[in-house]
Amino acid sequence: MTAPPTLYRDAALADGTGPSLRKGVSVLVNDRRVIWIRPTSDEGVLPPGVRVIDAGGSTIVPGMVDAHSHVTLPGGSHWIDRGADPPEELLEVAEHNGVLLGRAGVRWARDVGSPLAVDPRDGRRRALALRVRERWQSDLNRPRIRVAGTWIGHSGVLTGGLAIEADDGPALLKAASAQLDDGADFLKLYLDGPKKEEAPWSTEDVRAVVELAHGRGAKVTAHSGFLVGARIGIDAGVDSLEHGFELDSDAVATMARQGTFLVSTLAIFRSWASFAQTSTLPRFVSDEGRERIALRRERAIESVRLAHRAGVSIATGTDFGGGSLRANHLAWEVEALVEAGLKPWEALTSATIRGGELLGEAEAGRLVEGGPADFFLVHGDPLTDPTALWRVWRVAWLPDGRRPGEP
Ligand SMILES: [Zn+2]
Repeated sequence: MTAPPTLYRDAALADGTGPSLRKGVSVLVNDRRVIWIRPTSDEGVLPPGVRVIDAGGSTIVPGMVDAHSHVTLPGGSHWIDRGADPPEELLEVAEHNGVLLGRAGVRWARDVGSPLAVDPRDGRRRALALRVRERWQSDLNRPRIRVAGTWIGHSGVLTGGLAIEADDGPALLKAASAQLDDGADFLKLYLDGPKKEEAPWSTEDVRAVVELAHGRGAKVTAHSGFLVGARIGIDAGVDSLEHGFELDSDAVATMARQGTFLVSTLAIFRSWASFAQTSTLPRFVSDEGRERIALRRERAIESVRLAHRAGVSIATGTDFGGGSLRANHLAWEVEALVEAGLKPWEALTSATIRGGELLGEAEAGRLVEGGPADFFLVHGDPLTDPTALWRVWRVAWLPDGRRPGEP
């Protein structure tokens, strides 16, 4: 059953390519592709049987890219405990997250780590998100995902047996190679060490992984909570840093020069600050905990500010699941980027086009004639007000609730 052509009439358009909102725009969609984008006053001849949606008062936005997500994990204040839940439950969590992502206008998710679990089909342990990627590949209503496999970290850093542990260069290389063999689209290294002031591996160790991955057509990204690890990753030529909570002007200058992306996840701190009100956990509620979070937040905002000023490409992530946010919270990160000094339209570019560039997916985060009809409609102007992204009215790639067979 094919849907009739659909015309979205008289919307505004914020496509993430610049600061100005286009008004009075009509978009014709057929077979999940954008046929044309025209002024509503000049639509020309419409195809027979076209279904017209009065989009008056809404703004069309390209489907967003959550560049730092963990689709198999639920998030919330007990997010770490949830990583140990049984795999079958985590697969159900992923299905729920898939629904939340879509309804929030997120078309693409970049999964940067999922627990290892035994795959019943062959008895091998591999990252759970690889199975989610397979499930979702054939369902066009589901988010498109790219998957890093599981975390690779030094022993004594990630608790609960979540990570593949590698304590020296050869072990690191072996772990990286095994992830790619399992089918990971890219690699995720954990560049915080067991001691906060020491990186877990040398620049040479990490560079060998980067060379291995690049040779096999895969990128390498690195979790970076502290400056010492960020420096190793940057010098070793990783393609992106996740979080980058402690960058300095040297680090961001090199990143800009090399084209190293930063994936910002500042909304984590907003979420933790909210837990001071809504949870009873001492790390969020106690005076000491609040102060520690406030200090780290300030430093993280400063890092993003430096990166932006230096011209680093910034993509936008929630860290949902692997952190405390939920899968429908990407708008929160866009708000946080504006707080860190990006103009609202630049923050929208981060959440759309930059995310697509980071994924290496030419169509992700972009809305163009001939491209996929991966857009959603919100109320308000996200080019001047990031909170508009919370006010989702409809999502073009999802079924809209009409009964099957209805025109
Ligand atoms: Zn994460």
